Order: sequence, then C-alpha cells, then structure tokens
Amino acid sequence: MARIIDGTAVARSIREEVAAQVAQLRAEGTVPGLAVVLVGNDGASEVYVRGKARACEAAGMHSRVLQLPAETSADELLGTIDGLNADPDIHGILVQLPLPPHLNSKTFLERVAPHKDVDGFHPMNVGRAFVGDPNGFVPATPEGIMELLRRERIDTHGRHVVIVGRSLIVSKPLASLLMAPGPNATVTLCHRHTVDLAQHTRMADILVVAVGKPGLITADMVKEGAAVFDVGVTRVEDPTSPRGYVIKGDVDFDAVAAKTSAITPVPGGVGPMTIAMLLRNTVTAARRAHESARRRPAAAVR
Ligand code: NAP
Repeated sequence: MARIIDGTAVARSIREEVAAQVAQLRAEGTVPGLAVVLVGNDGASEVYVRGKARACEAAGMHSRVLQLPAETSADELLGTIDGLNADPDIHGILVQLPLPPHLNSKTFLERVAPHKDVDGFHPMNVGRAFVGDPNGFVPATPEGIMELLRRERIDTHGRHVVIVGRSLIVSKPLASLLMAPGPNATVTLCHRHTVDLAQHTRMADILVVAVGKPGLITADMVKEGAAVFDVGVTRVEDPTSPRGYVIKGDVDFDAVAAKTSAITPVPGGVGPMTIAMLLRNTVTAARRAHESARRRPAAAVR
C-alpha cells in the first residue's frame, strides 16, 4: 500500500518558514504585500482569492483584493495593473483567471511587471524558468510538486517522469524543472492527441496527472511501485455531501494507491502546496525589492 503524501502538512511547514522570513523582512522595514485582481463574480474564483488573502495575512503579509465588475473594460484593467506595478507597498500581483470572455488574459498577464509576477506567467519568467535562470518566478503548482518530491525524498535522477497534460500553468514548467541538471529526470509529456495513453503512463517511475477528468487514470495504467501526483481538481455533484459536491482528482485513488509506492490525495495533496509556494514567491519578490532599494544611492531614495 502506498505512502500517502500529506501535502497539507508539508505546506504548513513551508508556510511557517515563509512566516519567519516575513518577520525578518518586517524587522528590516518591509512588509511583503500581495495584490489579487478579480474581475466579475465567478464563485470558485472568489473562494480561491479569499483563500490566498487569508493565507497572506496568516503569514504576516499585507494583502489587497481588488474586485472589479464583470463589465470592466480592457483599458480599466490595464490601468489597475499599472497602478499596482507602480505601488511600492505591493510586491506580488495576481490576475485571477478566468477573466470574463471580452478580456484576453494574455494581454493582462503580460502587463504585470515581471519582478512582481509571482504567478510566473509573464513570458519573461516563462523564459527564465526554461533556461534555468533563478532570478524569475516559477508558477506555484509545478514548484509545489518539485518541493513535494524533494521533501518526500523521491529521487528523480535518471528516472522516467510521465506528465499527462501540457498546460503552461502546470505541465510545461514542471517538465522543464524536472529535465534540468539537478533533478535530471527523463520526461514524457502526454495530451489529448497522445496515442495509447496507458502505454506511456505504464512506463512512468513518477506519474503526474494534470488534466481535470476524474477517473482518467485507472490502476491498470500505472506501474507497480510508481509514485503518483494527482493535480486534477474537479467539482463533482454529490447530494450526500453537505456542500452538494465533492472535489475529485484525475486518479482512481483507492485502486491506484494499492500498487504505488507513494501517492498524493485530492484534496490534501498538491493543492495546499500551490498557496504555500505562492506565498514563498511573494516573500522572494519582497526580499528582492528590499535589497534593490537598499542598493539604490541615498540621493535617489531621498
Ligand atoms: P488545462 O489547461 O485544461 O490542461 C489540461 C490538459 O489535459 C491539456 O493539455 C489536455 O490536452 C490534457 N487532456 C485532456 N484530456 C486528456 C486525455 N483524455 N488524455 C490525455 N490528456 C488529456 O488544465 P490545467 O490548468 O493544467 O489544470 C489541470 C487540472 O489541474 C485541472 O483539474 C485544474 O483544476 C487542476 N489544477 C490544480 C491546481 C492545484 O493547485 N491543485 C493548480 C492548477 C490546476 P490538450 O492540450 O491536447 O487539450
């Protein structure tokens, strides 16, 4: 039976580390600040944004939520982002996705100043992650999976990692982190057009699934002794649950857990790591801003 990876516990210890770094920065005169821009009234997004704001405050950081009406124009949203880019109290900026259909997310993600782009979605940071430049930001979910691998001592060196999904938010950055010198994994990415998905997943020493289709990965698709990371988050109606729905991952958990060496549950696996890594990216942004202000000549600071 697999070891069940407790992402909630690992995330808690990272949040404690972040809180200690925040306390240090505050003592030096900088309060790390995160701004989240939410456009419209998408229920799930509001829940995520509230969760991010609460996590910031619990770590001693300053958080600001800007909730704009669904009919906000592109110019108004660009103006809001420009204001946050120029605000010295804000070190990290998130534009919560999805945006309403009249707003093309690419335009706004590219407007966030790269040094405040703690989501790591700006092309400058995507490129930095790809070339292995540590001065950018890596998106929180793939960074969270890397941290789980490290802290759970799951060796990636020379091993075959199969990732199902090819999104820019999770799978592509994770592939580039894993194949880099250091982790040294051999990586395969699969997607909707992959012929015979099971043939690939069965070869994985480490299988990561980031699709959003509950039950996609069944026990016969997984090698005996593999480690499995389930990124999928889907609300499935369940009248017996108090909320009327339950959260499901992409992996048929009980059957797959029976033959793997380690597995993340949903909820409580990869999910909690995402917020923890977002906080860590924000404190990193604040530390960089603090150091660069210190280096500026006194005359310029005034
Ligand atoms: P996405 O952009 O929708 O990408 C899904 C990927 O799955 C696509 O590359 C798609 O292939 C592939 N796919 C779909 N059906 C497939 C199939 N039958 N066989 C193989 N591949 C298939 O999603 P995402 O943003 O990466 O998110 C994926 C899941 O992770 C979602 O459930 C999301 O809610 C969850 N998520 C969780 C966290 C967290 O913190 N836990 C964070 C981010 C996302 P094509 O490219 O060919 O269409």
